[in-house]
Amino acid sequence: MTELYQLTIHEAGELLRQRKISSVELTQAHLERIRAVEEKVKAFTLVTDDLALEQAHAADRRIANGDTLSPLTGIPLAIKDVICTKDIPTTCGSRMLENFRPPYNATVMERLNAAGIVMLGKTNMDEFSMGSSTEHSAFFNTHNPWDLERAPGGSSGGSAAAVAAGMAMGAYGSDTGGSIRQPGALCNVVGLKPTYGRVSRFGLIAFASSLDQIGPFARDARYAALLLQAIAGPDPRDATCSPQAVPNYSSTLDGNIKGMRIGVPEEYWVEGTQPDVVASARANIEHLRALGAEVEPVSLPHTRYGVAAYYIIAPAEASANLARYDGVKYGYSYQDTDDMWEAMEKTRQYGFGAEVKRRIMLGTYALSAGYYDAYYKRAEKIRSLIRQDFEQAFEKFDVLASPASPTVAFKLGEISDPYQMYLQDVFTIPANLAGICGVSIPGGFSNGLPIGFQLLGNAFAEEKILRVAHAFAQTTDYHTRWPNL
Ligand code: GLN
Repeated sequence: MTELYQLTIHEAGELLRQRKISSVELTQAHLERIRAVEEKVKAFTLVTDDLALEQAHAADRRIANGDTLSPLTGIPLAIKDVICTKDIPTTCGSRMLENFRPPYNATVMERLNAAGIVMLGKTNMDEFSMGSSTEHSAFFNTHNPWDLERAPGGSSGGSAAAVAAGMAMGAYGSDTGGSIRQPGALCNVVGLKPTYGRVSRFGLIAFASSLDQIGPFARDARYAALLLQAIAGPDPRDATCSPQAVPNYSSTLDGNIKGMRIGVPEEYWVEGTQPDVVASARANIEHLRALGAEVEPVSLPHTRYGVAAYYIIAPAEASANLARYDGVKYGYSYQDTDDMWEAMEKTRQYGFGAEVKRRIMLGTYALSAGYYDAYYKRAEKIRSLIRQDFEQAFEKFDVLASPASPTVAFKLGEISDPYQMYLQDVFTIPANLAGICGVSIPGGFSNGLPIGFQLLGNAFAEEKILRVAHAFAQTTDYHTRWPNL
């Protein structure tokens, strides 16, 4: 029998509107599921039970009153702890913000609250979103629901694991270089990174401002479309947020991809990718061809410089963004001294973890006089070339298809070399550098571990990647499988 927590967002929405179930029941089912498996998975930094039930009651009242409803009214969701929630702890996975309660909501939260969602809690993440395994959380590791000894990916590992384990019907995360798509891939969940500027970053704690985007996790493309719809669109509080109108993402999901042109980037078959991941991506591409898509290879010649350019640009921006954590206005503050400089130094010494310090040092170095031209400026030039590669590719193709991550979920503690960890994002980083959209979808299994499949679309072409993702899901069953917890 299907448990309430296993319903799809669509099924749950129908039952809510027909008043066959209440949002309180649905929420309680998820809180029970959290009580049952969270001890093993550890996806949440905070479970907001009381708030969730309050919001569920409010949603039930809206439904009873016959108010206009959003498709997300009464739906229990989880939020990555990088998104500011008014008066509710928002730690960013860091000691620095362990006791931080934002005085305002992110725009995304305001929209979700207006839609009437139920927030179950805040999810664990790599500190300041820096990492690919959630092991850089200052608090604890999150475990992959498909194998508890393995990492869920990162940095939005808590959100991906919560959805995979049935602890939330959907979730939000942020993607700067792959942090939605890679954990999505490792946890068998759809993870979508919207086009840069599609979703407001107001109230998203900044890592690298020219790359960061908030996006959804869901068990199917249809629900990712609903979750994106709820947050997308212009925001006067974020100058980089596009004024472009938001299409109706659900209306084009008809399962038909006949004649769609799908490019397969030749440079995305890199050494070090696990053979099962390669085989699965190749098989999935053939599957799309069988569904009527026109599939052809395409070259993105500057791909190989993507990771190197990203690890200059992202740390450079991070070093500037994280300068604000000085222990003066908010966040952790070292108090045991009368000396101002010592207080700042110790605040940063104790408040930040090793990976964050590594990024700050890298970024400060890359931006310093004498090195700026050699590193930062050069990386920005590479970024332009990568963007041009995609521009050319999208003149000919609607969507590009590739593996999402070079490996399946790895063991916790297995990757100790930072550089090896950075390579987790070799397929996801170029999309952030170019500002285009991408989605990782359940695409297969290797010895019981999920394999992700990535679809990339041009800027503001979310409709197209969702259309292909949906057609793929309708004709495969990977996304319907549940981990044995
Ligand atoms: N893993 C990449 C990093 O560590 C990307 C993280 C992200 O997308 N936030 O920077």
